[in-house]
Amino acid sequence: AAAPEDMSPEVWAKVKDHPCYSEEAHHYFARMHVAVAPACNIQCNYCNRKYDCANESRPGVVSERLTPEQGARKVLAVAASVPQLSVLGIAGPGDALYDWKKTKATFDAVVKDLPDIKLCISTNGLALPDHVDEIVAMNIDHVTITINMIDPEIGAKIYPWIFFQHKRYEGVEAARILHERQMLGLDMLVARGVLVKVNSVLIPGINDEHLIEVNREVKKRGAFLHNVMPLISDAAHGTHFGLTGQRGPTPEELKKVQDACEGGAKLMRHCRQCRADAVGMLGEDRGQEFTLDKLPETIA
Ligand code: SF4
Ligand code: SF4
Repeated sequence: AAAPEDMSPEVWAKVKDHPCYSEEAHHYFARMHVAVAPACNIQCNYCNRKYDCANESRPGVVSERLTPEQGARKVLAVAASVPQLSVLGIAGPGDALYDWKKTKATFDAVVKDLPDIKLCISTNGLALPDHVDEIVAMNIDHVTITINMIDPEIGAKIYPWIFFQHKRYEGVEAARILHERQMLGLDMLVARGVLVKVNSVLIPGINDEHLIEVNREVKKRGAFLHNVMPLISDAAHGTHFGLTGQRGPTPEELKKVQDACEGGAKLMRHCRQCRADAVGMLGEDRGQEFTLDKLPETIA
């Protein structure tokens, strides 16, 4: 099909078979994640580290951790039985760029056998500027950055600390560094033609109004899509907000913020928060069919 009016042919070529970047494609193409990147360089108040990163996954759910070699084996097994598979994403369970060695080793192993698979990354953005050259060199055309604020005062309520250049930072200073790195990384990717999706976690009472400003800013800087997703509060599994419990938004609250962002960066509305080891079409999870114990030892 020809590119829609609002897209150049180059951009269309990148989105037409990526289920997360095209509403159309999500009916026909599948993506999978491999949970090969457990380490993270920041602390989000909504994460307790035992479970998957909320950047791109449902927090409070444990994915089976794989080594790069196991991850690559899994991708080949899935590709052999899911013909719609077009995208391999690494979205945690920690940060795909902070745990870069494992992310890169997995991608390198996979593309040897599947040179046409699209590679995709989700990150909190702190380590992003350091990896842009490699991202471009590896033909990674899609990067998702989780951006929950552009105001460090608000950021300080979301991120208690970050670990940056061998040092731990806290409070507003930590949030300011994270913010600057996110904006720099976004600008660098846009300048190199990498499509950027921004994910924002809607946290009632913390960043609900503010996400409209986030939307405006990321649009201005050239983000391709903005995905406002609800905080999934899971107190039973330790998803706390600081010390006090934090609820997630109601469907009405979520829709209100999404509607208010309309007209800014294009909103993704078909997102199904998927696990760091999700397999299949969006909204479908066939991960349990491909757990480690079910994979062949070697792939011919
Ligand atoms: Fe957890 Fe992801 Fe935040 Fe890291 S970036 S603390 S893994 S939610
Ligand atoms: Fe890429 Fe995110 Fe979609 Fe996974 S969920 S394939 S990381 S855009």
